[in-house]
Amino acid sequence: MGVLKDRYKREAVEVHCVQCKRSQIIYLPEEEIPLCPLCRKRMVIKENLTEGKY
Ligand SMILES: [Zn+2]
Repeated sequence: MGVLKDRYKREAVEVHCVQCKRSQIIYLPEEEIPLCPLCRKRMVIKENLTEGKY
């Protein structure tokens, strides 16, 4: 049980690297904002994919 609760807590966000434009989807807060594997720079949040559901 607790599936519904977990679903509300999770937020899918799209992050991208400003330098090489690589992007990926992560889930907050369980995942941290990753470093770009190519540039080794902190990726930035591009879009909150769950926001529109509220
Ligand atoms: Zn990069």
